Amino acid sequence: MANPEAEPIESSDVLHSLDGIPCPECGCVNAPDHSLFVSYFEAGAVTCVGCQKPFDLWAHASEELKNWPRSWSAFHLLGAVVTRQTVALEPDRNNEVTIRAVPEGAEILRVSMNVMGPSEGPPVFPALYIPGHTLTLDPFPRRFFLYGMTHGRTTLPGSTVWVHVTWIHPDEELPVHHLADAAKQFAAGRYKGMIIPANVAVEAALTPAVTAWVRTYCSRDETDEFLGPRGATYAHQLKVLSKIAARTLDLKPLPERIRTLLNHLRQYRNDLGHRGILDRPERPEPDLAKATEFLTAAVFGYHYARYLHSRVISPE
Ligand SMILES: [Zn+2]
Repeated sequence: MANPEAEPIESSDVLHSLDGIPCPECGCVNAPDHSLFVSYFEAGAVTCVGCQKPFDLWAHASEELKNWPRSWSAFHLLGAVVTRQTVALEPDRNNEVTIRAVPEGAEILRVSMNVMGPSEGPPVFPALYIPGHTLTLDPFPRRFFLYGMTHGRTTLPGSTVWVHVTWIHPDEELPVHHLADAAKQFAAGRYKGMIIPANVAVEAALTPAVTAWVRTYCSRDETDEFLGPRGATYAHQLKVLSKIAARTLDLKPLPERIRTLLNHLRQYRNDLGHRGILDRPERPEPDLAKATEFLTAAVFGYHYARYLHSRVISPE
């Protein structure tokens, strides 16, 4: 989803890459850009960029979310950029780190560090020193200090730290930011909190797509009335209109298992949005398995809406 043109230029100690889905066969990371999802919708599988073998993107993406640590896997599907900045860590002193090459206003999803030291033993480790005694998580500080901890081993040489920052560009489409909100709730284990942003992400992408498609047949006033508050709701768009639109545009329909999950997500959203609680026996609070299905379905739903929208030829 990231816009490569907007990515900062690389320098000798900074490297950018797209986060992504490791191939189940060879482990090669497949960047989750929009074309990967389109391949899945059109062929039912994607071809790994490494070993060229096909794999089921849906099945593998949801397995990854279920089986790997959430804080790590939740952002793989979003097309977030990972920036690696190399920092020299001098022993027993504060080493200043300024996060560069991540645009102002970018949504930082995750910061992690890898330490590389000499082979002869435990290296100098980074201790986070927080000026002002407050660690703000969002927005994450652009400038902080890493203290080189030696634990009294005064002869230790310095080590190197890779600071990895996973982020979403501020110019990304709004649904991507909603998906990021859902992924953050998922990563924190607050599964109920991901329902509304996950649902909004798909709705905010599907409604403009269906509107553009209806506009190819009807005037603006007719379209506004048809899709307005007393017309076809998001439920109708998801269950009926997107199917007809796909048929008329000669596109593969949204896979039924994804449509069913998105409809279920919509019902959960209505419970929370209208009544504020999940107390219906048929819709208990989502557990990890359910949250995994919902997050995966929302990401695929967003890409399907974008796919549909891109194939509508606007009359204007
Ligand atoms: Zn592979």
